[in-house]
Amino acid sequence: MTDRAYLATLRTPTPDNPLRVLVSACLTGITCGYDGSANGEYPSVLKLLQYDTVRLIRFCPEEFSFGAPREMCDIHGGTGLDVLEGRAKVLTETGKDWTEGMIAASLKMLDIARREAVELAVMMDISAACGSQVIYNGNRFGPEKVYQIGAGVSAAQLMRHGFKVISQRDYASLELLYSKIDPAHVIDAHAKDHHENDWYRTYFNV
Ligand code: SF4
Repeated sequence: MTDRAYLATLRTPTPDNPLRVLVSACLTGITCGYDGSANGEYPSVLKLLQYDTVRLIRFCPEEFSFGAPREMCDIHGGTGLDVLEGRAKVLTETGKDWTEGMIAASLKMLDIARREAVELAVMMDISAACGSQVIYNGNRFGPEKVYQIGAGVSAAQLMRHGFKVISQRDYASLELLYSKIDPAHVIDAHAKDHHENDWYRTYFNV
């Protein structure tokens, strides 16, 4: 779940002192996805590229450890936090164990977050590395895709060290972010975060 109270307290940045935001590289158009693409376009994040009051620090944890293109991978037996605590594994579509590489990538992302003193992370939801609200439960290539509430390995690593993470689908949180980096932005009061939308509430029965 997002922390909108935290977002409301973000400082008002300037071009000389922009807000430091760590972002899943693919969300900014970098072709680091498993298939060598940028995983589609997400205007909610691409919009951030327009402002000189935000400095985007881009990183792709899976590309760091496995390159691109690469196999797809998912978490088996738990969430990203469970992977970090040794209770779950990351397996590729052909069964390769990528747990160690995913943890190494999460530590690299944490290192970047600390070094750059990032104030927020905006990450691609559903990904086994970058998901922050929802991830697959086991192999997404099974007869039926199964989702679970939880974070991917890199997002979980950031969260457990105190960094705030939102996804490209957390529209209410993004509205707060836009209002900080653009004084002229008028907040859409009807925007919802991912955990508030109809699909999420119906699928998880919450
Ligand atoms: S690991 Fe993260 S940054 Fe890299 S392609 Fe997947 S979602 Fe994007």
